[in-house]
Amino acid sequence: MKKLFQKKVQILHHIKVGPGYFRMGLAFPELAMVARPGQFVMVRLPDGYIPLLRRPFSVHSRLVEGAEVCGFEVLYKVVGQGTQAMSGLKAGDLLDVLGPLGNGFSCPDGIRHVFLVAGGVGVACLCCLALFLKEHKGVRSTVFLGGRSATDVLCQEEFDSIGAKVRITTEDGSLGEKGVITSMVEQAINVNGRPDMIYACGPTGMLKAISDIACTHEVLCQISLETVMACGFGVCLGCAVQKAGSPGAYLHACTDGPVFDSRAVVI
Ligand SMILES: Cc1cc2nc3c(=O)[nH]c(=O)nc-3n(C[C@H](O)[C@H](O)[C@H](O)COP(=O)(O)OP(=O)(O)OC[C@H]3O[C@@H](n4cnc5c(N)ncnc54)[C@H](O)[C@@H]3O)c2cc1C
Repeated sequence: MKKLFQKKVQILHHIKVGPGYFRMGLAFPELAMVARPGQFVMVRLPDGYIPLLRRPFSVHSRLVEGAEVCGFEVLYKVVGQGTQAMSGLKAGDLLDVLGPLGNGFSCPDGIRHVFLVAGGVGVACLCCLALFLKEHKGVRSTVFLGGRSATDVLCQEEFDSIGAKVRITTEDGSLGEKGVITSMVEQAINVNGRPDMIYACGPTGMLKAISDIACTHEVLCQISLETVMACGFGVCLGCAVQKAGSPGAYLHACTDGPVFDSRAVVI
């Protein structure tokens, strides 16, 4: 039985890390202790704020003070009304948080080297995965970070600090190689060989391209879908994703995902 928590929690810190990008620390140790990489929380803004519906965010990292887990962080991008309102909150304000939700990433036995592929803020769910894979599974990660521009490339230092190899592309060439991250992934496979697994999160087009690359090169691939959802726990059924190989059949990103085997869904 999965543990699920809901309460109003204090914002520990709220830091702007780039134009439109924020890190928010939330004082929720019980949730942080049990959340697995790839799981998410649903966040509701304080009373009086619009929108009323919760918004989903990945658990980005576990916060530790001394030897104690004191909460977790979300890393988010301002894209609309909810995230715009959220960006105005301050340390000490309260947010209603529900989670951890969803299934998270899995790491079968025998995996030694993986590719983590992030498009922009899709990196939010991959940092704690890299740490988990290194600390608990002895797995080596090569990380591919893609963005439109240098300011969309996040978390490079976090991956560096755990010894992961980081490769970067930007579409305008302002950081790393000029181009798209999926081309770099394919080139890396052609030159250096296949990883044992690809884990990816980012825009739908990027996930589709990565799934195709994984299929062509016969690499296992898990993708985390950021499908718009209203409830996060299987009641509203708003986050339907078409099931591969079964026309008319659907899975739901909140309860069956957000992490899927790339062969299981049509994206
Ligand atoms: C499981 C899950 C985990 C997520 N984790 C993170 C995270 O860690 N960090 C982060 O920044 N975002 C994350 N997201 C996306 C985040 O939930 C949305 O960006 C947020 O809900 C937008 O709310 P809003 O009110 O600001 O925008 P809205 O006003 O709801 O939407 C503004 C615009 O953005 C579009 N939009 C909204 N949500 C999405 C989406 N998921 N994908 C593409 N377009 C979208 C809308 O269609 C609209 O055009 C996650 C989503 C899911 C499903």
